[in-house]
Amino acid sequence: MSNQRKKSVLETKAREMLQDRGVELDDIADLVFYLQNKYQENLTLETCYKNVDHVLMKREVQNAIITGIQLDILAEQGKLHSPLQEIVESDEGLYGIDEVIALSIVNVYGSIGFTNYGYIDKQKPGILEKLNDKANGCHTFLDDIVGAIAASASSRLAHSAEHDESTIDDE
Ligand code: MG
Repeated sequence: MSNQRKKSVLETKAREMLQDRGVELDDIADLVFYLQNKYQENLTLETCYKNVDHVLMKREVQNAIITGIQLDILAEQGKLHSPLQEIVESDEGLYGIDEVIALSIVNVYGSIGFTNYGYIDKQKPGILEKLNDKANGCHTFLDDIVGAIAASASSRLAHSAEHDESTIDDE
């Protein structure tokens, strides 16, 4: 049972940081549903949520979250050195390191993850649209991280559906 697991300090912090920045697990579960609904019959939000929860147990994912969000916060406070401050604050298109950090998440789950990430990053449904609006703060890193978590949870879900639904809680 995932709610009885003892979480590491890193995992607890990563989950807290997501929440503090306005991202709930339900929001990411909605993105997974958006990505997988057309491929899986009878897909429920609960299954999506469980897969998001599992992705957040991975150290690589936790590291990406605490690093990216920290940079977003420092940029919001104007505390980065120039030119990084201006680049992150304006979410400059050619910067690309936000995507690299996101790919470190997707990387854990193989090639379906990459495809899903590319797609959702273009479409920007749900919470991604909100994060992309500069009026809601600096989320240069966070939008890519959330997209990558959703893409990873989708490939996890797709892989487990391919084999056996009952394996969904393992690993
Ligand atoms: Mg970005």
